[in-house]
Amino acid sequence: MRPLKKLLKGKTVLITAGPTREPIDAVRYISNRSSGKMGYSLATVARDNGAKVILITGPTFLPPPQGIKIIRIETASQMLKAIIKKIKKADILIMAAAVSDFTPIKKIKGKLKRTTSSLTLKLKPTPDILKIISRKRALLKKGLIKVGFAAETSSLISRANKKLRDKNLDAIIANDISRRDIGFESGYNEVYIIKKDKTVLRTKKLKKEELAKKIYDIILDKKN
Ligand code: C5P
Repeated sequence: MRPLKKLLKGKTVLITAGPTREPIDAVRYISNRSSGKMGYSLATVARDNGAKVILITGPTFLPPPQGIKIIRIETASQMLKAIIKKIKKADILIMAAAVSDFTPIKKIKGKLKRTTSSLTLKLKPTPDILKIISRKRALLKKGLIKVGFAAETSSLISRANKKLRDKNLDAIIANDISRRDIGFESGYNEVYIIKKDKTVLRTKKLKKEELAKKIYDIILDKKN
């Protein structure tokens, strides 16, 4: 396996991290428990190994890493627009963000008032960013490596494989979010790294920085 510096030096890596926030009214939103740690770790590891890094991030409590271009967004639509603006430069795209799959059809003006009756919120699906980007061939650098994440509570490998195919990815990182000790809000994760060539690697429980190194090793090394 070649050292990471050789694999990443001079490359441009576009990474998304954290949750998206889909507004309901002036103060409320739909979101999820993503801390952003996995995406930020992937960003700092790439930076430390000589890559140019663009980090498109939803709201997180993490300090902004130095030496990385940071673009802050809130909604899935804003994330899509930000990626479209930057994707031409990227050699590697890693979608580590936990993008909300649904968004309210209409944002309510002002703050919704309390009532005693029940309330129905109408939601619509957000754009599938990876799917849309994969299809914009004219915008993509030749050889762009596209990596997604699949957070699942059951049938981990088969669901991740389906996403790998549907979104036309080179690799997908599958993790079991039913476990409280890894994944969402944790500093650790234990995952399966599944590649387009059907190789599946199961990692042990690793700190997210260590896992980030492993992910680059696997997705960039042609022999794996
Ligand atoms: O379909 P699902 O949301 O489980 O797919 C997860 C992968 O797809 C992640 O890499 C996530 O960042 C990405 N995603 C996306 N657009 C969405 C939802 C998820 O690109 N609307």
